[in-house]
Amino acid sequence: MPAAGRGLRMGGSIPKQFLSLGGEPLIIQSLRALQAAAVVDQIILAVPSADIEYCENEIVLRHRFTKVTKVVAGGVERQDSVRHALAEVPSDTEIVLVHDAVRPFMTQRMIDEVVAAARKHGAAIVALPMRDTVKQVRPDGMIERTIDRTPLWLAQTPQAFRRDWIETAHQKAYAEGVRATDDAFLVEWLGHSVAVVEGSGENIKVTRPEDMVIGEAILASRMTGSGTGETCAKSGMGKSRPSR
Ligand code: C5P
Repeated sequence: MPAAGRGLRMGGSIPKQFLSLGGEPLIIQSLRALQAAAVVDQIILAVPSADIEYCENEIVLRHRFTKVTKVVAGGVERQDSVRHALAEVPSDTEIVLVHDAVRPFMTQRMIDEVVAAARKHGAAIVALPMRDTVKQVRPDGMIERTIDRTPLWLAQTPQAFRRDWIETAHQKAYAEGVRATDDAFLVEWLGHSVAVVEGSGENIKVTRPEDMVIGEAILASRMTGSGTGETCAKSGMGKSRPSR
């Protein structure tokens, strides 16, 4: 689980993954979903090097995330953080699941389906069909053309891969200086086909300040049972805080 972002786009000084959602750092929601998943044996967390101790003590130990076997230092970009975590994956692992810490509303259904699809096809991601009309816009701010949205999907995480595919993809990309914003791209770049499993509009990536408002609403609807009905790890209301 890459959780080593600095949260610059959010504006504040606390990285997004440690912002408070329902009274606790939102990374805890993401970890709870992974901890609860029967198909997940081990969790390797990549965090900013300055936060390793805080995460080990205040997140992993305090909340008894017993599946977290390693907390490693992330890298400059997300791809570097994933590569650092992959280096710690045991060699007898079949499937590697990659999930952004800042998507706290992943469900058990998504984990199960994406892992099952990866077992079948070698690689799979959770994604959402495009619902808005898509415009290609010129640098001068005028529309160039309208793109047919029918085949377009928005990639989310979790994404699941055969361990050998994702390891080779990351090593080769690192050696050749290829950068990507998700892991599936690197596996596609190797020439493998990647399956898609439908995600949900609630599986948001917390990126902008307004996402926290949406996040609190999703959390509240799940606590009262008025959400999508998909099962998620039960939320607790602990009071732990990031170290700064
Ligand atoms: O940057 P972005 O919002 O796409 O981040 C997605 C995930 O990657 C977040 O969970 C973030 O903490 C993580 N990340 C990371 N290392 C970085 C940058 C982002 O682990 N250098």
